[in-house]
Amino acid sequence: MAPQTDTQTQALLEETRLSSGRLETLSRQIEADSTATITVRAPATDAAIGSIPACTDADVGRAVSRARDAQVSWAETPLKERSDVLERFADLVLEHRGELLDLLQLETGKSRQDAVEEVLDIPLTCSYYADTGPSVLAEKRRRGALAPATTARVTREPVGVVGVISPWNYPLTLSVTDAIPAILAGNAVVLKPDEKTPFTALALAELLERAGLPDGVFEIITGQGPVVGPALIDRVDYVAFTGSTETGRAVAEQAGRNLIDCSLELGGKNPLVVLDDADVEQAARGAVHACFTNAGQLCLAAERLYVDESVYDAFLDAFVGETRRLTLGTGFDFDADVGSLIDGDQLERVETHVADALESGASVLTGGRRRPDVGPFCYEPTILTDVDPDAAVACEETFGPVVSVEPVSDTEAAIAAANDSDYGLNASVWTGDRDRGIDVARRIDCGTVCVNDGYVSGWAAVDAPMGGVGDSGLGRRHGRAGIERYLESKTIATSRIGPLDAPPGVPASWYARGMVGLTRLQRRLPSVSSLVGRLR
Ligand code: NAD
Repeated sequence: MAPQTDTQTQALLEETRLSSGRLETLSRQIEADSTATITVRAPATDAAIGSIPACTDADVGRAVSRARDAQVSWAETPLKERSDVLERFADLVLEHRGELLDLLQLETGKSRQDAVEEVLDIPLTCSYYADTGPSVLAEKRRRGALAPATTARVTREPVGVVGVISPWNYPLTLSVTDAIPAILAGNAVVLKPDEKTPFTALALAELLERAGLPDGVFEIITGQGPVVGPALIDRVDYVAFTGSTETGRAVAEQAGRNLIDCSLELGGKNPLVVLDDADVEQAARGAVHACFTNAGQLCLAAERLYVDESVYDAFLDAFVGETRRLTLGTGFDFDADVGSLIDGDQLERVETHVADALESGASVLTGGRRRPDVGPFCYEPTILTDVDPDAAVACEETFGPVVSVEPVSDTEAAIAAANDSDYGLNASVWTGDRDRGIDVARRIDCGTVCVNDGYVSGWAAVDAPMGGVGDSGLGRRHGRAGIERYLESKTIATSRIGPLDAPPGVPASWYARGMVGLTRLQRRLPSVSSLVGRLR
């Protein structure tokens, strides 16, 4: 598709609080020697809205050096001051939400309703880690080798410089919510946002600076993923990656070669199960949200629906009806339910999945068409049925507003179908009996299972870990795990009796017998951590 004219770009920007000058100011934050640039486009019209530097390996090297220098004094800054910066940042995000929502919509084409979910996520994450950080970071006493003659304590040190690599689908939340715990823990962060959505991340960097974060503690580098990503991974001490399974494997290989740790938040082919006792109206409403939020471009979105045959017809009627009521649009107001796809590649992927399903015998219950009258990359929320189990749409992540629905004979069949996937990110179970839902949830092989909700109750439970199994990734964000991944633990052990060795003049056989006796005694003593656990 031919790029739009400047006048059309101008018209689009006039609908927002933004201007070309403002976007240029944001992009000037990137310190790059490279003169090459990448054009950023607005999916709503495909208009070019601005450009960012295409950083080189050397640019990445300089950004990581600045971060490394800044990290030393940041780690020495009292924890209270570090968490105050993050709380001020959370306030600034809420205060400036108007511009952030405009930027998000401009870069991604998502509806304003979907954009709001992202904004709320940041203050929740800041407050959670400000609250939990001190207990995770505090030095802990552990049972010594020969208590009380020896002691052991564990300190938690920041790993150093963390590389965060983020995707385009949730550029606000995924640019910083992995960085927040890293920064609180005393690390510096170098972020590489997706090249399609860099301005949101740059606006957040500006707010972090205004909140009092010292220069260099949060650096951004922009550029092509296959150039800047590997250059970053070669220089940092940890990588928090969110993106596709294919890229995640490459990141893991490189991190493995460099012997650095990483977390990989990857794709999903998430099941949604409706049991025979579900309130079908409520399940249908919930399914619409679970399937079509962010036009389906959400790693946690449901793409495979399995419905008990006893409620299949009633559910389908309600689900198709609710889906048909969804409005498509690209305006900067709250009118549209579903926005645009990110670009032509994503639209092509969606169309290919639907065409392939139809060729192998599937039927379209609603949707199934692109909507150029709304926007160049808009596609209708689409429900398919009778999908061949080997069709791409049945087993590969579509990452668009396309889902399949199939009846299942009973709960066992629903669980088996839900587990028949290489992915294991998120699942949703609908039932009139919460305890039954929890039992079914225990048997579904996913990192998160939400009962009577699509994904929000799992994602927004920031105190609980979130991540995937199988092809959906490694490691967890959120909860204590979400900050512990950025820490090295160091054990400091002391002896009050000198070296733990046979004292001078004691025969080795006596010493060995004594040690066996002490070992027997030691096995009966509880460790400090188990005592603390029992007292809780
Ligand atoms: P992607 O893997 O193409 O890109 C993700 C990021 O990696 C981008 O910043 C990109 O520039 C960078 N990148 C590209 N090549 C790289 C390389 N060789 N080395 C290092 N970095 C490189 O993914 P995408 O298409 O942007 O995002 C969509 C995918 O992300 C979907 O599969 C979705 O399910 C997944 N996702 C997962 C989660 C989660 O929490 N599990 C959240 C959002 C998105």
